[in-house]
Amino acid sequence: VAEGLSDLLLSRVRDVPDHPKPGIVFKDITPLLADPEAFGALTEALAATARELGATKVVGLEARGFILGAPVALAAGAGFVPVRKAGKLPGATLSQSYDLEYGSAEIEIHAEDLADDDRVLIVDDVLATGGTAEAAIGLVRRTKATLVGLAVLMELGFLPGGERVRLALGEVPYQALVTV
Ligand code: AMP
Repeated sequence: VAEGLSDLLLSRVRDVPDHPKPGIVFKDITPLLADPEAFGALTEALAATARELGATKVVGLEARGFILGAPVALAAGAGFVPVRKAGKLPGATLSQSYDLEYGSAEIEIHAEDLADDDRVLIVDDVLATGGTAEAAIGLVRRTKATLVGLAVLMELGFLPGGERVRLALGEVPYQALVTV
């Protein structure tokens, strides 16, 4: 990613200390979303990745992966498919549980929205522990479609999430536009 782009993106992500709980520095992307230049540049960068990988579907992770993934999908000429927290999708779903620091979480997808000739790029805003992305990778791999990539705006480089998703992805490419 060009230095000008990463500087622009970084300058529009706000650090909120101790949110949602003490010790967590929350990466707030709402200033980026509010700036059409930065939001547009982010969308174009992720759409370029989607085009390079020949993605026909962008899978966005609830909730900020929806905001980023939908314009990326349209810009790349791909469809959009949401991965939601358990219990939200009305149709037949595949679901995947994963461990959190305390307890566990479950995500779901409408498997019928991914056909056997679909090529899927997973998109989210922030990669922290990598647990959510790893679960989404597992979910997409249980569909008939082919997983072709994972792309995030920001990786928290002080956590082992990058390593974790690379291990899960194997040969499938991973892109973090910025790492902090
Ligand atoms: P993880 O599963 O730990 O990689 O967490 C990833 C999910 O939680 C993503 O969907 C992020 O939106 C959100 N998330 C985790 N940590 C942060 C953080 N420090 N700032 C903003 N979002 C975060």
